[in-house]
Amino acid sequence: MIVTTSDPLAMPPEERRIAAFNLLCELRPEGWNEELLVSDTPVFFSGVEAAGSVYCPFCGTEIDDWLSRELCRLEESDPSMLTTVTPCCNRQTSLNDLDYDGEQGFGCVAIELWNPGDDLEPAELQQLEAALGVPVRVIWQRI
Ligand SMILES: [Zn+2]
Repeated sequence: MIVTTSDPLAMPPEERRIAAFNLLCELRPEGWNEELLVSDTPVFFSGVEAAGSVYCPFCGTEIDDWLSRELCRLEESDPSMLTTVTPCCNRQTSLNDLDYDGEQGFGCVAIELWNPGDDLEPAELQQLEAALGVPVRVIWQRI
């Protein structure tokens, strides 16, 4: 399970990151290998559907291969530049706003927890958002 910010460029202050990290560990004590990931530039987190598809948010064209190339391009150039132009219909968007099949996305701050058990309840998500100070989303990863 990965909890990351809804805004891919959000960078909550350190004390808030640690508070949210500690809170998640308290909420899911059965989880293990907990880790607080912090990056200067957005990291792409793929969800359970590792081979899941991604679609253009405007015209619905499947753009998996294009996304793979875009991710490589990001690593080689400026990873904070999520702005892109879709290959199918030439419209400007953010890589974070593509129509992903399942939860996937970018974040600079993420809390990783293996085998945490149940998904977070809405009230627990609210607690995490209060601790971190920004909206969050959960991405389930198969390891
Ligand atoms: Zn398109």
